[in-house]
Parts: sequence; C-alpha cells; structure tokens
Amino acid sequence: MAYSLKGGRVYSVLDGRYVTRDLHISDGLISEVPAKNAKEIDVSGKFVYPGFVDSHAHLIGTGRKELEVNLENCDSVEALSTALNIERDIVRARGWDQEILGFMPIRKILDSITSRPVILTRRCGHIASANSAFIKLFSLERLHGLDGTDIDLGVLKERAFDEMEKTVLLTSGEVESAIEAGTKAFLKYGVTSVHSDDYHGIDYELLMQKLSSIVDLRVYEKFCVSGEKDIEKVILGRQFENEFFELKAAKLYLDGSLGARTAAMIESYYDSPGEMGVLYKKAEEIRPIVRRADKEGIQVCVHVIGDRALEEALKAFEGSKSEALRHRLIHVQIASEDQIRRMIEERLTASIQPVFVDSDRLIAPERFGPSRMENAYPFGKMRDMGVLLALSTDSPVESTSVIANLNSADRYFSRRESIEMYTSNGHLLANSCRGCSLELGEPADLFVIDADLLKANEELLSEMTFVGGRLVYSLSEIG
Ligand SMILES: [Zn+2]
Repeated sequence: MAYSLKGGRVYSVLDGRYVTRDLHISDGLISEVPAKNAKEIDVSGKFVYPGFVDSHAHLIGTGRKELEVNLENCDSVEALSTALNIERDIVRARGWDQEILGFMPIRKILDSITSRPVILTRRCGHIASANSAFIKLFSLERLHGLDGTDIDLGVLKERAFDEMEKTVLLTSGEVESAIEAGTKAFLKYGVTSVHSDDYHGIDYELLMQKLSSIVDLRVYEKFCVSGEKDIEKVILGRQFENEFFELKAAKLYLDGSLGARTAAMIESYYDSPGEMGVLYKKAEEIRPIVRRADKEGIQVCVHVIGDRALEEALKAFEGSKSEALRHRLIHVQIASEDQIRRMIEERLTASIQPVFVDSDRLIAPERFGPSRMENAYPFGKMRDMGVLLALSTDSPVESTSVIANLNSADRYFSRRESIEMYTSNGHLLANSCRGCSLELGEPADLFVIDADLLKANEELLSEMTFVGGRLVYSLSEIG
C-alpha cells in the first residue's frame, strides 16, 4: 500500500524545523511523487515526525508486563492478595516496589495469601520474590546464597533471579503474545525502532525465530551474554537478521539496580552503611569478552548503574575498538567528572533514561546521600563533555511513553536536542546512519500526532504509526 499524507507539519531532525508539506510513501520509502494508487490521508494541522528509537528497552519484557499481573500501584497486603488470587496455574506478577507496598513481599506473606505458585518480579527486574509452592515446583533451594539470595525469605536477587528464569522458560505462545503486546506498546507512542534486550528466560532458537519474524517494528537486538563463550551465540544469531531484525550487540550486566541496593557503589549506600551493591564482573573478567567482541566486530553494551560498576567498565574498555564499534554504557546513574572524561577518552557512547530521575527522586538522595548527589544522573555534564547520548526508557522498568521521557529530559536538554537523541542518535548507536528528516529515499518510519513535541508536556498517543511504509498502528482503529 502507498500513502500520501496531505498537509502535515513535517519535522526535520537535521534542522529542527517544521515544513508544511505532503509526504508520499511508496515501496517502504519516502518518495518524491505520490504513487498512482496511493491512499490519501488528510493530516493538515497535525505533526509528522520520524519514528523514535528507544535505545534501551526489553520488548518481550514490555509485552510480559502488559500480560502479567501488574503490581505497580499495589500498596497493601489486601491489594496484593486481590491481585494474586486469580485463576492461573502459575501466577506471574511484576512491578512491585517495597516503598509503595510498604513491606517486602517475602515468602511467609505470600504463603498466607495463596497456595498457587506465584513469582513477583520487582519493578527494576533485578529481584523477585516467590512463595513456597513456586520454590518447590522449580527446586529453587539450590540458589540460596547467590548474590544475596535468601530462599527462606523467598527473595531471589540478580544472577539467582536470572537462573530462576532459565528454569521457568517461556512457551512459544507466551513469547508470541508478549512480542505482540510489546510491539503495540511502543508503536502507540511513535517508537518505530527498539534496541531490545530479550535473552531472559527464553530458549535461544525460539527467541531468534520469533524476533526475526517481527515486521511491525525494527529491532536492534542486544544479546545478553555472561561470558566470552556467549559471543558465539551473537555470531550464530546473525543468520536470522533481516530488514527488521538486526543483532547489533552483546549486552553484559555489571551490576543491579539502585532501588534494590544492588547497583555496585565505590562507597557504601548512604541509607545502608556497609552495603555496596553487587558487582557481577571485574575488569579482568570483562576484558576477554570485549576483546573477543572487538575481533568479531560486535558492539559491547554494559549495564552500569553504580560508580563501581562504571569504574570496572572503564578499565575493561581501555584500548578497545570503541571508536569503530561504539561500545556503549547503559544507565550511568552516578559518575565523577574524571569518569566522564575517561568515557570520552575511550570513545564510549551511552543510552540514558532521563525518566529515571523523576521515578528515583525519592530514593536517590537516600541511597547516594547529599555529597554524592552532585554526581548523580550526570547527563548534562556528559552532553557538555561530548559523550554521544541516546534516550531510552528501559521499558518495562518505565512506561514506553515518549512524552514522559521528554519531560524528564527537559532539565538537561533542549527539546530539539532530546528529539535528536531519541531519533538519529538512536540509529547511530546501532552503527546505522539515518538522517531522520523524512527526505526522499529515507525509510518510511514515521508517526502522526496532534502535538508539537518541541513544546508538548501532556501525554498523547500517536494517531498513526508507519514502519517500512506500512501503517502498523492506528489510534482510530483502536477506538
Ligand atoms: Zn534494562
């Protein structure tokens, strides 16, 4: 199908301006003239943008959040009990936060609520709690002690959580439904490309098959690795690549999350003296992975939240092929000026989540303490010093909403800069260069919205989203 979008205000990332013009789409690209059979759509008065790129999220996790029990607003034992008492063989729930809940949902409490197997993932995705039925069903006693995991309390942390997920693999049907729900969650906000990290609790072959069948969204997959050997899987996965699916990077976790106090810190948590988080790997252990990836031409993305994890990453990337491959830091929630200077020296790029600043506004000062707060969320400084940045939501940790993230980013960047970091920089971080100005010959990845994103603050959905010239989401059809 070819389209002619008539009279919209078309935004160019290149010059940061709107031009009112007709936009023609045929054969998946922006074309100079309308195709003969083009369907005309009047978008006069509306705004047309190049598709946004979420540079770090979890597509399948996003879909799972839509399908699983949502505990985000759960604030009492009663509310938790209502949410968990549903007819399912295994109840999977996600999104709890002990600060909102008012308590840790430990095994004893869960046992008093239900005898069905239940697993509750914290909103950060780094901790989960399970009841006795779930622990017995999957023999999780063996994980006791790993990364602070306490099976008596039913609390699984970090690598134990990952191990648990490997035991409780998703079925093919579950993966399919999650991809469908996740795709929609991005398209409805005008996000047409996602740097996704999905190798969690899914069989490898199944994951590759399902991801490579997606045609409504572009996926730059960051394949989650835990050691040098796993780089083989990235190489192997490349045979599945196509127009919509590219295996761009190896993703490595170096620490946990701030909320769970598992982000690896150089000094103790201010609100928990002696506790310094969980460091997954030291520089010596990361380096062979980076070296192997350098050799194979694979980008390495590291999850770093605490300054200790960042320190190990900086050491590991010394002398690597960062310049060509654009090795990347994901998150960076605290960094000294010296560490930012070394990011530049090593030519590292970063995927940041401005929306975390608002979500963490209550916990960050408690975790870091007043003296370290000036180094927290150093996104403005990173921009000033020259780190190539792209925006992201880390969905399902946060909503896939573009405007919520732009609002949070306003404290650091002009809207024009933010939009650039949400579009062309997102492609750049995948080592793909795109103008994002909706000019002749560009892929027709775009969306129409009734809001000027250089100013808008109110949450609004895309009216129609196109990927590869196909109308893949339409608000009017949803109703
Ligand atoms: Zn993530």
